[in-house]
Amino acid sequence: MNTVKLNNGVVMPQLGFGVWQVPDAEAAPAVAEALEAGYRSIDTAAAYGNEAGTGQAIAESGLARDDVFVTTKLWNSDQGYDSTLRAFDDSMRKLGLDVLDLYLIHWPAPGRDLYVDTWKAFAELREQGRVRAIGVSNFQPGHLRRLIDETGVTPAVNQIELHPYLQQAELRAFHAEHGIQTEAWSPLGQGGELLSDPVVQKIALAHGKSAAQVVLRWHLQIGNVVIPKSVTPSRIRENIDVFDFELPEAELEALSTLDRGGRIGPHPDELD
Ligand code: NAD
Repeated sequence: MNTVKLNNGVVMPQLGFGVWQVPDAEAAPAVAEALEAGYRSIDTAAAYGNEAGTGQAIAESGLARDDVFVTTKLWNSDQGYDSTLRAFDDSMRKLGLDVLDLYLIHWPAPGRDLYVDTWKAFAELREQGRVRAIGVSNFQPGHLRRLIDETGVTPAVNQIELHPYLQQAELRAFHAEHGIQTEAWSPLGQGGELLSDPVVQKIALAHGKSAAQVVLRWHLQIGNVVIPKSVTPSRIRENIDVFDFELPEAELEALSTLDRGGRIGPHPDELD
């Protein structure tokens, strides 16, 4: 498994398994399947309602705790210093873990204006050794700048919507400049039109790989961490079988031409 080194030295697998929209009862078998297939990073969130099922699968996997990288996220309504500390304890109880690998602020929720206080609580949790790395999700350059300016603590990761139809050049450049790891959510564009795009299809045919595998390979080669989601065992396996081929520069460029600002999720400035 390829890994990336975060800005505080913590090592994170470059490809993980996302569990958004997986009900708690289905999370345990799906995560078990993913761990069996070789995934060593799991991305959940308090808001997904499946931290318990996710934690159960990790506990039952027989893998050493150090071998699985676990990410969860703080929901918007829990932002604020004290409420963050409480929400963290709640997530850890559900996950059944003592130490978390990566904790993310799920959305900046600028209308609440609490993300700086929230970030101070995140820094405290890291100081206490309860979480190994702290980051954010859906932060725009202005939100990131404010965190850094007001706390002096740079997020290790920003998890953002990113796929060939929404390539986020400005944010990726900001991340590169500040040592923030880009992590792509909905890396497959939620399995929609992107996977039947003729440009993707042509490259897939040339390599004898699927469209999903080509898109994941594009992410890996441009340096993104990816967390594709599936509950279908064959697709779970397909999505991690991406380390035996390489896209040449010309194909990376062809995929880069697909950018069209095609956002699927909400705009981060508009969700509170
Ligand atoms: P995704 O791009 O991973 O697409 C998942 C969907 O694509 C599946 O439900 C399935 O329909 C299809 N699919 C998966 N594998 C396929 C394959 N091999 N061939 C064909 N179709 C396939 O979308 P996602 O679930 O939105 O994002 C992945 C993860 O990112 C989530 O599970 C979650 O962990 C995270 N996420 C985070 C945020 C955030 O705000 N931080 C938002 C959305 C998602």
